[in-house]
Amino acid sequence: MRKATVAIIGRPNVGKSTLFNRIVGGRPAIVDDRPGVTRDRNFAITEWAGRRFWLVDTGGWSSAADDPIRAGIRQQIAIALAEADVVVFVVDTRDGIHPSDLEVADRLRARSERVIVAANKADNLAEDTAHHEFHALGLGDPQPVSAATGRGSGDLLDRIVARLPAEEELGPDDGAIHVAVLGRPNVGKSSLVNRLLGQDRALVSPEAGTTRDAIDSPLRYHGETLNFIDTAGLRKRSKVEDEIEFYSTLRTERAIDRAEVCVVVVDASVGVHAQDLKIARSAWDRGCGVIMAVTKWDLIEGKSPTTAQRGERDVKERARFLRTVPFLYVSALTGQRIRTVLEAILEVAAERRRRVPTAEVNRALEELVARQQPPQQAGREIKLYYGSQIRECPPTFALVSNDPDGIPESYRRYLENGFRAAWGFHGVPIRMKLKRRRRTRR
Ligand code: GDP
Ligand code: GDP
Repeated sequence: MRKATVAIIGRPNVGKSTLFNRIVGGRPAIVDDRPGVTRDRNFAITEWAGRRFWLVDTGGWSSAADDPIRAGIRQQIAIALAEADVVVFVVDTRDGIHPSDLEVADRLRARSERVIVAANKADNLAEDTAHHEFHALGLGDPQPVSAATGRGSGDLLDRIVARLPAEEELGPDDGAIHVAVLGRPNVGKSSLVNRLLGQDRALVSPEAGTTRDAIDSPLRYHGETLNFIDTAGLRKRSKVEDEIEFYSTLRTERAIDRAEVCVVVVDASVGVHAQDLKIARSAWDRGCGVIMAVTKWDLIEGKSPTTAQRGERDVKERARFLRTVPFLYVSALTGQRIRTVLEAILEVAAERRRRVPTAEVNRALEELVARQQPPQQAGREIKLYYGSQIRECPPTFALVSNDPDGIPESYRRYLENGFRAAWGFHGVPIRMKLKRRRRTRR
């Protein structure tokens, strides 16, 4: 299921990032550190009253326009309306209504049911009545808050959560395989998805009146439904989006959050870029299956299997986690090997869902330990007693030892390689939890 998105907008210095940090608390935020972002602008998953949602602090872009502040705010609004289910419009009670607040309000009014005005810097709520002034914005009751002290932030969150779309609206969990097609701009993502879905089919079928575009494209294949996440985002190309890299970072992270399988698209004519590896790594660390699709293969002159293999070997040296990941060499233009992408998606999804019986885990573990003991420490024998797969999606194993902390990383890798040799798990991260054997008392 998709998580709802809440965007914080407002002019500079009203306290947007203070409010973001207040709401997110100590949770790790994803900081976008790419060029074009003047300050660290963040997004993070947060939770209130049992609802989890993305919170996005959208301010802070530079702009080449004559009036950078106004242009920046216009961009924020465009993105907030396109991307967010709820918009928190932050104003400053100390300044009162600023001319650009009115401009923002005009642009938001058509969507006022999705907007909450947060009248910030109301540090002294009991006496403070300054927030009433903001009724004049025509966006409903302003919510007084103090991001600095936290006052009113619980009430604001209650109102945010009350406005979130119902969970059913965010899409049911229908057993489909959720697939995210990811990569840098222009590598060929939309062309690839178009090919996969079939030329006769429009990539996006926007419903009338939707400006938000968390639109997915389903595809039936070999009895399974593959759900391509947020394909609208692949198609839509406004100037704003091209300018703002942040947007694609948010999209990528949100897609990874929902995906079981991530297809990382690489442009064969460019080769594997550091950013490609960063995306793949992010997907891997979040427990997704990963497939590398090297596209535009038609552009490679003198292409031969050895060219491909050499490139793949180099990349796998640079990023060891990729050694189990399938590399596919395709062309959206000619359709070459396009079906291998669908086959790989099914295969990786099945590997990720796979469950190994406990007896089999223990047989493999015994063999691995017999072949190579855990490195022993002076005066203490380190033992591995038994293990089992405690979870799938991604496969997670618990192994029980008398001294879990004494087992070095190298030995964990040895076990992981052994497990992969036994069961495959191609393209899927494996998690290992080492646990201490509990003393049984009688
Ligand atoms: P942004 O540009 O909208 O992200 O604004 P910031 O979060 O960076 O805040 C701008 C300034 O306002 C900073 O100096 C904050 O410390 C201050 N500030 C933010 N929220 C409050 C608040 O609730 N009360 C007071 N008194 N100051 C605040
Ligand atoms: P996206 O930004 O990642 O979605 O990339 P697009 O799918 O829009 O493709 C970017 C450019 O690469 C377009 O000009 C496409 O026509 C071109 N392109 C995409 N796939 C291929 C391919 O397989 N072969 C060739 N030669 N060009 C391609």
